[in-house]
Amino acid sequence: MKRFIIVTGGVISGLGKGITTASLGKVLQAKGFKVTAIKIDPYLNYDAGTLRPTEHGEVWVTEDGGEIDQDLGHYERFLDITLTKRHNITSGQIYYEVISRERRGEYLGQTVQPIPHVTDEIKNRIYEIADKSAVDIILVEIGGVVGDYENVLFLDAVRQIWMENPGRVLFIHVIYLPIPKTLGEMKTKPAQHSVKMLREIGIQPDFIVARSESVLDEVRRRKIALYCSVQKDDIISDPDLDNVYRLPLIFEEQGFGDKILAKFGLKPRGSDLTSWKSFVDALDNATEEVNIAIIGKYFEIGGYRLPDAYVSVIEAIRHASAAINVKPNISYIDSQAFEDGRLNLEMLEDYDGLIVPGGFGSIGVEGKIMAIEYARKEDIPFLGLCYGFQLMVVEFARNVCGLKGAHTTEVDPHTRYPVVDLLPWQKKLLEEGKYGATMRLGGQEVYIVKDTLAYRLYQRDKVIERFRHRYEINPEFTHILEDNGLVFSGVSEDGIKQIGEIADKKLFIGSQFHPEFTSRPLKPNPLFKALISYAKERSRR
Ligand code: GLN
Repeated sequence: MKRFIIVTGGVISGLGKGITTASLGKVLQAKGFKVTAIKIDPYLNYDAGTLRPTEHGEVWVTEDGGEIDQDLGHYERFLDITLTKRHNITSGQIYYEVISRERRGEYLGQTVQPIPHVTDEIKNRIYEIADKSAVDIILVEIGGVVGDYENVLFLDAVRQIWMENPGRVLFIHVIYLPIPKTLGEMKTKPAQHSVKMLREIGIQPDFIVARSESVLDEVRRRKIALYCSVQKDDIISDPDLDNVYRLPLIFEEQGFGDKILAKFGLKPRGSDLTSWKSFVDALDNATEEVNIAIIGKYFEIGGYRLPDAYVSVIEAIRHASAAINVKPNISYIDSQAFEDGRLNLEMLEDYDGLIVPGGFGSIGVEGKIMAIEYARKEDIPFLGLCYGFQLMVVEFARNVCGLKGAHTTEVDPHTRYPVVDLLPWQKKLLEEGKYGATMRLGGQEVYIVKDTLAYRLYQRDKVIERFRHRYEINPEFTHILEDNGLVFSGVSEDGIKQIGEIADKKLFIGSQFHPEFTSRPLKPNPLFKALISYAKERSRR
């Protein structure tokens, strides 16, 4: 009999419910239970594919080509499981389905209503995952906070799931305890109100996870227990952490996993977080440092600078660093600053490794190309990801092959040398207005060419990596690029070049896919591992 754990949030958004859900899954996994996780996003977008990265953070790409919420990335990383696009449910998908069914006449004349028809659709989606997955426990995280207008139907749907599965559903409510500077004291009132709202919907939390700057003290614990009707021991402290991968260990110290299993009437089947702990300690205890720069553009939101758009790149750097035993100092450089002279390219000398990550559109492109040229000439370890790879090819075409004005047609549709371009079949689809169908999305096989750097790194003939892009290395230009020394060391089934490298450099490599999506804490991606080891070497100069 499968169990469900529903994770809701209160007081503020951005509480780290995703990390909480993933960490809880990790603890249960370590106790011998198979888990999966579903993320519910109450927005009306069908998926995250069209969301602005500065506002919503990165788009996570699943193996089956879903463009979804970055929380799914946390789940896949922490739990080392492969999720599908069906593991991310949005209001857009639910309403689309309900309205389509109504149009097809499938409701047979009934009045179609939020409850039960919309909630039925939500439940169907959750049960579908439960039925199809060979797991013991399904974690369901509901985005937003209780009290939001938009997640009411989702909360009602999980309440119904609780009704339909007596003893097999637990509710975990993640709250925030602010410590206002002027008071200097941790306040519980907003949390009390949020639990009150949850109870009005008919949900009584079984556990409360108390997020705060510091550890929960006894006075506050008693107060929350009293007002929220949750046993004192079932309130779990979740203080701010520098290293989020430590959270499963913090949960384990408080016996969170065992308490959950006990409520389910289950017994732990062992408990093993040893390798996880070694990874977390390696991250925290490394003394040797490497300076890595991500040269991108999606950093600013209002008056704040957030690297959220590159979260998987950052995590992949950390996984690789733990394996190489170094501490990564990651800097974020806005490539536009090279274009307008705010930054001088020489500043790149201070870095041990450079990454130009994925992106879309023309903003900051010339600055990225300038940085790539500098990295190539000065032989600074370089990794280009997706757009970063395409621009690496553009730079090589312009400055090594002498193809002046070479470009990607994404930026310059009329360039004389479209080294990165749409393939004929894509152009045809675009003319028909079929934009979505022109993207290469999700996991695909890449054949690695023998006797190349990529082969030395992957040590395999074939890998599966995840893609999310539209433009391709133009087959008409690969010869001239190769004749001038660019080595294409990875090719997809359709013959398109997917990895490029320059052999006589320390490390100068780019991939059309996003290796950050397959990096896991205990299994860093080989390309990131290479960057960090070469960076370590350079840092010792
Ligand atoms: N804009 C490029 C393309 O669509 C690269 C996309 C990316 O970096 N994810 O092909």
